[in-house]
Amino acid sequence: MDPRFITLTFHGIGDIDRPLDDGEGDVWIDRQLFGAVLDHVSGRADVRLTFDDGNASDVRHALPELERRKLRGTFFVVAERLGRPGFLSAGDVRALADAGMAIGCHGMRHVPWRHLPDEGLHEELVEAKAQLEGVLDRPVTEASCPFGAYDRRVLRALRRGGYDRVYTSDGGTAHPDAWLQARTSIHSADRADAVLTTATASEAQPVARLQRHAKLAVKRWR
Ligand SMILES: [Zn+2]
Repeated sequence: MDPRFITLTFHGIGDIDRPLDDGEGDVWIDRQLFGAVLDHVSGRADVRLTFDDGNASDVRHALPELERRKLRGTFFVVAERLGRPGFLSAGDVRALADAGMAIGCHGMRHVPWRHLPDEGLHEELVEAKAQLEGVLDRPVTEASCPFGAYDRRVLRALRRGGYDRVYTSDGGTAHPDAWLQARTSIHSADRADAVLTTATASEAQPVARLQRHAKLAVKRWR
């Protein structure tokens, strides 16, 4: 059987140090849960860790805890937020990269990419990528979709924009080399020892698995 990987998504960690967007509180987790999830997945070669939104807690809390466990993560940064209070600075992004972490693009302004006019989509996918490449002085080839929102047009623009891996929030597993990678967000109410079971719940039963395939096919082709 093909190997299937689980990718987890973290957002803010620890004390909340800025006004949150709607729904953001549900995915802002305390440091204890973060550490417990890392301990739970340590040693699992089939689990990938990603961090969205470019929060300052990426360097303040995530980086030291990852390094302590010799884990690696991919950090998806919102270009326009760099240096704003509560978010990563350009120097922070370089520090993450220097520590061996991967840096990806989470757009320019943290807006859903569906239904944007062409210029807006270009700004989100191409200009944001170029800005991050300027910060890092190296190519940025991975993206994660804000709010997990995408459609056929967005995926086409991502391919044309030079991304060789794109992360969604569709839950479940993905082949490690697939261009489109489903992920599962960690929520503040989650239990650390249940996150992997939750991540794969939509694939555990044959009927649920078929429903998931149908739903994802619609998202890719709408
Ligand atoms: Zn986001």
